Amino acid sequence: MAEPLFDRIALIGIGLIGSSLARVVRREGIARHVAISTRSAATLERAEELGLGDSYSTDPAVAARDADLVVVSVPVGASGEVAEAIAPALKAGAIVTDVGSTKGSVIAQMRPKLPANVHFIPGHPLAGTEKSGPDAGFAELFENRWCVFTPLPGTDPDALEKLSEFWRRCGSNVDTMDPDHHDMVLAIVSHLPHIIAYNIVGTADDLQTVTKSEVIKYSASGFRDFTRLAASDPTMWRDVCLHNKDAILEMLARFSEDLASLQRAIRWGDGEKLFDLFTRTRAIRRSIIEAGQEVDVPDFGRQVLAHPEKSAPPKG
Ligand code: NAP
Repeated sequence: MAEPLFDRIALIGIGLIGSSLARVVRREGIARHVAISTRSAATLERAEELGLGDSYSTDPAVAARDADLVVVSVPVGASGEVAEAIAPALKAGAIVTDVGSTKGSVIAQMRPKLPANVHFIPGHPLAGTEKSGPDAGFAELFENRWCVFTPLPGTDPDALEKLSEFWRRCGSNVDTMDPDHHDMVLAIVSHLPHIIAYNIVGTADDLQTVTKSEVIKYSASGFRDFTRLAASDPTMWRDVCLHNKDAILEMLARFSEDLASLQRAIRWGDGEKLFDLFTRTRAIRRSIIEAGQEVDVPDFGRQVLAHPEKSAPPKG
């Protein structure tokens, strides 16, 4: 096993992302000491029962003191408060990063609160599930997934390289982007699909003419694939919507225009238009599989998970 990269890592927030980091950091021996902090005594107790770290506190400043790397993994709306709480405890030269799904807002909240003598490098691992809390994490979550950094002007290249090495040891590929560009890209690849899923599941739930039991009974015809996204954490997704408002509204406007055009094609029986679109979109899925970001097994791997003896488990 390679030498530890850091003496002390502080994980602030120990839900799906924080606890997955804790597990992979331990498995790969990335740090000599993992200090864990979370807001509630109940989550902290659970993290301790699971043996996720070496020390535990509900005070983020206690965990952050003397840390070489601090990873903030809380809902994006809470990142400013956390930065304020850890600021007095940070040692000079420490790397402070986050995992938030929006970047412009996190930078606006955290940067003014952090001292100038630490390296603040915002980040976002493009990896997740619809589950939350410390039990939901697993060491393989980041394998073959992208971690995108949105470094601020003047970022120290050595600190960026060290953080990149951290994420590579966690299994990720790394990339850098401008924060506004990140927020626009994520609005289309992640935020819009979640909003559409929340909306369609909400519509089905509201329908009076189709009973809820029918929606559930016949869900395998497509509906259930939306329910996975729509089961995602409400706090996290409320914050994403509030903190990436402009990019999401821009993508929703484009989506609504395209939906209206699709509606017109259906109304006027324009089969050629429908066929062309459905052919174009099919190719996108093929490219995702070829890029290693999805498994090419029937039924999104459900049969594999139900009958693991039939095939190798899906990656990631
Ligand atoms: P999670 O499982 O719900 O865990 C959230 C953690 O943040 C818990 O430790 C929780 O503490 C703490 N927390 C909640 N509200 C807080 C507040 N107001 N102040 C301080 N701490 C608070 O969430 P997660 O899925 O790990 O998401 C964490 C971050 O990762 C979010 O910014 C999200 O945008 C980003 N992210 C998520 C995914 C995903 O798929 N889930 C993927 C990539 C990035 P207590 O339990 O003690 O209250």
